[in-house]
Amino acid sequence: VSTWANVVEGPPAILGITEAFKADKNPKKVNVGVGAYRDDSGKPYVLPSVRAAEKNIFSRGADKEYAGITGVPAFTKAAASLAYGPESTPLKDGRVCITQSISGTGALRIGGDFFAKFYPGEKTIYIPAPSWPNHKVLFTNSGLKVKEYRYYDKTGIKLDSAGMLEDIKNAPQGSIILLHACAHNPTGIDPTAEQWADISKLIKEKSHFVFFDMAYQGFASGDINKDAAAMRQFVADGHNVAVAQSFAKNMGLYGERVGAFSLVAESPTEKKALDSQLKILIRPMYSNPPINGALIASEILNSPELTSQWLGEVKGMADRIIVMRESLKSNLEKLGSQKDWSHITSQIGMFTYTGLTPEQVARLAQEFSIYGTKDGRMSVSGFNSGNVEYVAEAIHTVTS
Ligand code: PLP
Repeated sequence: VSTWANVVEGPPAILGITEAFKADKNPKKVNVGVGAYRDDSGKPYVLPSVRAAEKNIFSRGADKEYAGITGVPAFTKAAASLAYGPESTPLKDGRVCITQSISGTGALRIGGDFFAKFYPGEKTIYIPAPSWPNHKVLFTNSGLKVKEYRYYDKTGIKLDSAGMLEDIKNAPQGSIILLHACAHNPTGIDPTAEQWADISKLIKEKSHFVFFDMAYQGFASGDINKDAAAMRQFVADGHNVAVAQSFAKNMGLYGERVGAFSLVAESPTEKKALDSQLKILIRPMYSNPPINGALIASEILNSPELTSQWLGEVKGMADRIIVMRESLKSNLEKLGSQKDWSHITSQIGMFTYTGLTPEQVARLAQEFSIYGTKDGRMSVSGFNSGNVEYVAEAIHTVTS
């Protein structure tokens, strides 16, 4: 008998959208399931600032030595400044503890494991319903209990603000609350500045701890400061937050796996303790992180010229997505759709939560070769000037 005879095949890790898309022979097929940016001809996009940074690194003849456990220091320093803002008080105080991570997922996992080991209160993390599907499994595997707070109002295709506040209020004092810093995945719906202020105040009253998942800084609005505003407001309100950063989307460094996990400490002394425990936690996981992506991000963030070039390119990606939202909505209206599609343009980031039912999503795939997720989420970056009319016609057909 084989050692692994007891292992049964599990469900696919992600639904087989890409496989179904690949197998489809229809030349008009559209993949709106992808979580990665595509340019207006539907191709992956390597940012010119990234190419320039790679060239610099190569011509310098950079070596391939190990980084330290917490990664490339020039990178983490710049990443902290990007997230918290160069004028941030805790940064100036020297009490932000940061480590490089295997992109956003790795940052969330380091956070989850750190909470499981050291969080003094009840080790329960509250995530929005719905959330990025990996959150629940990831934190469960870290050893945390995972519960949900209401987030999405299905009827209005908007934020369930009252439900969210009520659930945060009813969570036991000192719980961990996960917030999407911007461009909530999958809904594309973010709280307004006023709603964020209410959330911050309530969380303070309840002595909850906040963990920000910031996977889309700059990618949502095109402005890195605007996208970090909520998180920075929480820090200014006195929350000693944890933050997971990813450079997958905003630098297009998906496969390079570059990110960072940070914690705001109460004092520089406390920071030293946290730093040492993060190293003790990470060392047996993977010893130290890969350097290539971190060198690229560091090259961009530490050169004023490359930084400003990159900011323009981030804005270019965000703007294309915003234009595609407008185009989809106006095409639906032109076709005479009587439905309210205003959420397509009020939502932000990579995805639009269309409000389509699973049956309508299935029809889009079967009749039009348009492949999205069952929950009606579509990646706006799958749209381009060549297919947006076709997608609008298809959506109109299945919704009328
Ligand atoms: N968090 C959210 C909300 C995401 O949407 C993603 C990616 O889609 C991630 C985290 C992690 O991405 P990565 O590990 O590629 O940085």
